[in-house]
Amino acid sequence: THFGFETVSEEEKGRKVYQVFEGVAKKYDVMNDAMTLGIHRVWKDMLLQKMHPSPGTHLLDVAGGTGDIAIRFLNYVQAQHRRKQKRQVRAQQNLSWEEIAQKYQNEEDSLGGSHVIVYDINKAMLKTGKQKASAQGYTAGLSWVLGDAEELPFDDDKFDFYTIGFGIRNVTHMDRALQEAHRVLKPGGQFLCLEFSHVDNTFISRLYDLYSFQVIPVLGKVIAGDWKSYQYLIESIRLFPSQEEFKEIIEDAGFRKVTYENLTSGIVAIHSGFKL
Ligand code: SAM
Repeated sequence: THFGFETVSEEEKGRKVYQVFEGVAKKYDVMNDAMTLGIHRVWKDMLLQKMHPSPGTHLLDVAGGTGDIAIRFLNYVQAQHRRKQKRQVRAQQNLSWEEIAQKYQNEEDSLGGSHVIVYDINKAMLKTGKQKASAQGYTAGLSWVLGDAEELPFDDDKFDFYTIGFGIRNVTHMDRALQEAHRVLKPGGQFLCLEFSHVDNTFISRLYDLYSFQVIPVLGKVIAGDWKSYQYLIESIRLFPSQEEFKEIIEDAGFRKVTYENLTSGIVAIHSGFKL
């Protein structure tokens, strides 16, 4: 296993991954914006659009870190639920949009029973996420659970969706994490993985290499005071399987109808699979 241009044991990788995120937790969101020029927000929005969750959905967001995907999920289902309620009220009572907006201004349960668990191995990342979420007013329908993706403390057949965003690359035994994902999803449930992948365009690939090797470690040093961690980031992206190889790994874990979609010329890909 590689780690920042060194070769380390599997055990060592787990420990080092922990240290990387422990060290950058407070700066993680700022770094994400700086490194991706804010584009990670668009990629996460696209993941939500692909998921298209309806009110009442139960999501497990593994390697959820500071909760970006969870917050987007709550936002999405809230909007869906409000839209549905407004349609119903309007049909029944013939109210104007202004009257309806007023009616729902103070409404508490706007999630329609949806729930998301942010699951992560790193306490510092969860702590930062929890503070961010409550500062933005997200507390209902949201839990934070500490643990390893390779061993989930949840019953079988429990969730409608399992998401993992920029996380699977950091897990030591990817196959174990995928088997666990399959186990905890309900039959018919969907696995969605957002991850850095391999660029399918020569010109973009050159630019991307230049940016990754020249700019990202410097940003890591300047913003998070940490050069090595961001070298690790780049190295781990290079070593991650191609889109097609990863699709096969997901199929090996028992998922069906596995597909992927490249975003930004394959800098990132969303893989999807179903437990059938
Ligand atoms: N999903 C978030 C996002 O997209 O912003 C955070 C992604 S961050 C790059 C990777 C996260 O994976 C870190 O919070 C790290 O602690 C977590 N992680 C690494 N190994 C893990 C494991 N074995 N089990 C659970 N989480 C893990």
